[in-house]
Formats: sequence, structure tokens, C-alpha cells
Amino acid sequence: MMDTIAAIATPHGKGGISVIRISGKDAIDITSKIFKSKTPITEAKSHTIHFGKVVDFAGNVLDECLVSVFREPHSFTGENVCEISCHGGVLNTNKILEELIKNGARLALPGEFTKRAFVNGKIDLAQAEAIGDIIDSQSDALLNKAVNQLGGILSEKINQVRSRIINLLAQIQVEADYPDEDIELWEREDFVNEAKSIYEEVAKLLESTKSGRLVREGVRCAIVGRPNVGKSSLLNALLKEDRAIVTNIPGTTRDVVEDFIQLEGIIIRLADTAGIRDASDEVERLGVKKSEEYIKNSDMCLFVTDISSPLCDEEKEILKRIEDKKYIVVLNKADLENVQKEEDYNAPAVRVSAKEGIGIPELEREMVKLLSLDEISKDREIITNIRHKEALIRAKEALSRAFGTISAGMPADLLFIDLTEAAEALGEITGLTVNEEVINDIFSRFCLGK
Ligand code: GDP
Repeated sequence: MMDTIAAIATPHGKGGISVIRISGKDAIDITSKIFKSKTPITEAKSHTIHFGKVVDFAGNVLDECLVSVFREPHSFTGENVCEISCHGGVLNTNKILEELIKNGARLALPGEFTKRAFVNGKIDLAQAEAIGDIIDSQSDALLNKAVNQLGGILSEKINQVRSRIINLLAQIQVEADYPDEDIELWEREDFVNEAKSIYEEVAKLLESTKSGRLVREGVRCAIVGRPNVGKSSLLNALLKEDRAIVTNIPGTTRDVVEDFIQLEGIIIRLADTAGIRDASDEVERLGVKKSEEYIKNSDMCLFVTDISSPLCDEEKEILKRIEDKKYIVVLNKADLENVQKEEDYNAPAVRVSAKEGIGIPELEREMVKLLSLDEISKDREIITNIRHKEALIRAKEALSRAFGTISAGMPADLLFIDLTEAAEALGEITGLTVNEEVINDIFSRFCLGK
């Protein structure tokens, strides 16, 4: 039986209220030792809220609080749970927590409540990860995907594909037990077709991780062009329209200064890569290298040019560098004489005046179109998690090995091994077949009290 854990579930600091969470077999008993209410909470029904006072060992009142009682198994963790809502001060909150510890609770580790929910079968691993994503989300799109994942959309999909593989495994087993059937499995069209369809399903899920990366990490967008065409003016004009509040996107390098906007709920990381031209100065050369690297790793570029003067050689050079990337030509300074026009380019082009703020919504629409951001935003079956992606890669590899076995007409035992591996890889996503180390790693990244 697991011990009883307690932690402050709200951010540390002053606020309207603080919540202290207690979970475990003795959660209600321990809380009742410090909480005095009209009906003792030991007699309280599940899902009830009680007003009362928290009193320490010496009888001093520490605070007036509300305690919510949840009885097992109908709680987030599946165990008895109390949530003490006290006044949002640092000292009173900590003192209440201390009293709980003195009365037999243990301080919870980061993510331990959610881990218990997983261990007790209240949620699967993908759903637990979704909770982490909801807390960490900085964009509407990631929040939306995380909420869907918590609701079980991803788990359901994965379980479906997995059970179809298990069905194939069962057929192989039957074949092995009754070998005198006259047709070999791989000569049976329905068996092979089903294997193919499963493979395609897994490949599709894996393909969705490309969009998933954009949802999780944001779109890397490099603003390129020769000096003075209005790159920084454009950056400012875009920021004015849709500035996104972003503190820190995980996994991003901060070598090039980025600013953030949101389009269709997806973060666009805009970087003005000034200094892409050849430089003699050492520091500047380093800057150039970083810019080039940024462009190489970018998902799209905005090529800014001055519409009032013809394209020069330096600009043609820049265009050459980005020709393999997705890019939009920004014909800036459209308030001046228009010497260049959209048709001069093989890429989408938009007339803009960064200075006057003209053409910015049109430019944004082109950006959305170029990367299909609206579709990515709406798609409910996009995988955003790298751990899930790795599991899908293994599942896909195992399935393609299975095809090798089928086409070579090899013994069914070999097919059994590959299909089992594919099923196991998928099971890792929902936590059915995952090892303790991975589980601990996932929950250790949660915050305290979660
Ligand atoms: P960067 O070197 O490419 O970053 O260019 P800047 O943004 O610093 O702009 C260079 C000059 O062009 C500045 O004097 C801006 O005021 C001017 N500029 C930028 N955008 C426009 C525009 O849309 N119209 C006009 N007329 N001038 C602009």
C-alpha cells in the first residue's frame, strides 16, 4: 500500500488562495487531525466541501480553510484525497503543510500525484503527459492538442491500431496450432491487406509528428534580405499585430534573437538574420555563421526586398541560399514607387509597407497558407511528443520487417516476433509496455504538487 503524500499544489508566493493536496490511504485521517469542522471530515461523503479551522499541535489556529474530500477510487489519484484551500500566504500555507507532515504525511515528489493516477489506472501515460503539456503550453495549438490528448483521443487511436496488430498475432497463433490449413497466411489476401493498412496507419501517425514539431516548438521563420530593405521594420509591424507571450520554448537555442507571434494558435519564431552577407570582422563572421545555420534549420523564410529599387546581385545571392526552403517574398516599401512586382518571382509575393502597416494581414495569410497552419491547428490526430514519435518509428520499422518476412515467405514465427515488437512499441505510448525508468523520467519533469 502506498503511503500518504502531501504538497502545495499552487505556485509558491502570495495569492488569493493556496491549495494543499493530500493523497493516500490515510489522507482523510491525517487531515482530520489538524482540521476542525462542524462535521468531522472522517465522516464526510466523497466530493463534499467543508469549512473549518486548521489547528496545530498546541491548539493555535493557523488559518480558516475549505477542505474538499474525495474518497477512493473516485479521485484524481484513485486514492483518498483532501484538498485544503487556505488563504494564499506563504507562511500559513507552509505551516499547514508542516502540520500534515508531522501527522504522518510525506512530502510528495514532483509529479507524484499524477504518477499515482497513472499507477492506479485513472489515466494512461499519454494522458499524464498531456497534463504536463497543458501546464507548460505557451500556444493555443499545443494547449488544444494537449486537451484532446488528455481526453483520450490519442490513446484511443493507438489502442485501436495496437489491437489490430494483436488480432494478426492471434491469427498467426491459430495457424501454428492448426497447421493443416491449406493456405499459408501470406497467401491470404485479408491478412496481408490488414497488415498493410496497419502499416499505413502507423506511417500516417509518424508523418503527423512533422506538424507536431511545429505545434510544440513553433515555426522557425528567418527574415532575410540586404541591409535597409526594412527587415526590422517588418518584424516590428508583425509583432504589433500578433505579439505572443512566450517565456521559454523548450529545446530552442537562443543564438539568434527571436521574437514571437501566434498564427492560427501556432507560435511563429521570427528572427531578423541581419548580417548574412560576407563579413571580415571576426565577431560579425560568427554572427553570419549563426544566421546561416538559423536559415538552414528554419521552417520558412521571409525574403524582404525594397519594391522601389530593382533586385540587386546581393539579393540574388540571398535568394539562391533560400531556394530550397519555403519562402515568401515581401515587397516592402509599397508606399513608394513600385519598381518590382509579384510576377518577378516564382514564390508567393506580397506587397507590404512595414512603415505604414499596410499588407501585414495579407502577409500573415500567406504564411498560414505556406505551412498549412490552419489545417495543423485543426487536426486532432497530430502527435506532438518526441517519445511518442520514437515509439512510432520503432513500430513502423518492426512492421516493415514483418513485410520483408511476408514477401520472403519465411516462417510465421519470424512474423510473430516483428508484430509483437510493433505492438509493444505502440503500447509504450500509452504506458502499457513501458519500463519504470521511462515512467520515472516522465513524472520527474512535473512540478511539485502535480
Ligand atoms: P533593415 O536594415 O532591413 O532592418 O531595415 P530597417 O527596418 O532598419 O529600415 C531601413 C529604412 O527603411 C528605415 O529608414 C525605415 O524607416 C525605412 N523603411 C522600412 N520600411 C519602410 C516602408 O514600408 N516604407 C518606407 N517608405 N520606408 C521604410
